[in-house]
Amino acid sequence: MHGGNAILDAIETKKFGGELSEEIIWAVVAGYTRGAVPDYQMASLLMAIFTRGMSYEETLALTRAMTDSGERYSFPGCVDKHSTGGVGDKVSLTALPIAAACGAPVAKLSGRGLGTTGGTIDKLESIPGFSVALSRERFERQVEEVGLAIVEAGEQAPADKEIYALRDTTGTVDSFPLIGSSIVSKKAATGAGYLLYDVKRGSGAFMKTTEDARGLAELLVRLSESMGIKASAVITDMENPLGSAVGNALEVRESVRFLAGDEVPEDLAHEARYVATRLLKLKGIPDPEGKVEDALRSGAAHEKFGEFVRAQGGDAEALDELPVSREVRDVATTRGGYLARLGASGIARAALTLGAGRENKGDKLDPGAGVEVLVKVGDEVEEGEPVARLYGERNAERAEALVREALELSDEPVEPAPGILDSL
Ligand code: URA
Repeated sequence: MHGGNAILDAIETKKFGGELSEEIIWAVVAGYTRGAVPDYQMASLLMAIFTRGMSYEETLALTRAMTDSGERYSFPGCVDKHSTGGVGDKVSLTALPIAAACGAPVAKLSGRGLGTTGGTIDKLESIPGFSVALSRERFERQVEEVGLAIVEAGEQAPADKEIYALRDTTGTVDSFPLIGSSIVSKKAATGAGYLLYDVKRGSGAFMKTTEDARGLAELLVRLSESMGIKASAVITDMENPLGSAVGNALEVRESVRFLAGDEVPEDLAHEARYVATRLLKLKGIPDPEGKVEDALRSGAAHEKFGEFVRAQGGDAEALDELPVSREVRDVATTRGGYLARLGASGIARAALTLGAGRENKGDKLDPGAGVEVLVKVGDEVEEGEPVARLYGERNAERAEALVREALELSDEPVEPAPGILDSL
């Protein structure tokens, strides 16, 4: 019905603020994915969507069309979580083994770091031997047998992959319907029956205000429910890095320490417990708080992480002393005071500069590079006290300058802000 003209019809309709039919949305998405619609026409439509918006029905149709554009999995009994991307965000590495140890199986497809935000796949690859590429059969079997498997996202929602790359270069990323359909299409193609969104808010996150984060969270939950997924969301602070480690092996090491019962910063310990509890609640598992505490106290969550690592070929014996860069430099304060802020985006840029992330697509990471934050908001520090430790052989001077810029001290005592800002 809509041959080659679907894209022109769509542009004409949307530029005047009209509503796109489901049929036209499917025709455009299919046409673009198979290369029949050129980038310049799709870019024009995306800009019209950016300025005019989309109704909920249009957004859902776009989500469905992108979900069905590629390979789909089905894990109706599994839980999954999605974070909109943070700095030092190791909630997947901590909360998911807890959930799995409590009887909520996890099948997760994850990505690599994007810009300054780290990716779970890069983190897991810092474990010697760990494979993020399992065949479909092996992935499904591991979910069945271990209750936890995490692999690199591949052929799911290819339409989103194409459209996202175009948005990235045409100023059309920050549009709610485009972000919502992009995220939910990938999660729906993964096929978990229960999904928790962790929408980050703050300087180190995509959403800068709590209001925007809540708006996105509501859209993600509504779209997911329409796609047959039981979903809920939390809105969490990303003004400062979560926990102390930022960088791949450093973050795995901190996660393992938490699971083993060692002390880690309270913000991380609280968020990991909270997210695990919410995942169990979503699946309807009774006494979720009690189960989460038991899994941590008994060592079951720590054991589950080791089992998962072994199943994916990783050296679980190496987990306790994961190699990190031997090139270390401490950053000390030049004055005393109370730590008011250690800006997440600045710390992320420091870690990236040291080699923990990619400046350009395809850059090689240094898995042992990153930043360890030695103080948290509210702590009193003395002049000359180390506040951060840098790991890595690249650009240490520049990284130190970035950490100094990110550091804000106050003469007055500072009350740390809550990590969990809102939930729905
Ligand atoms: N993450 C996604 O997957 N898609 C977006 O559009 C934005 C963030």
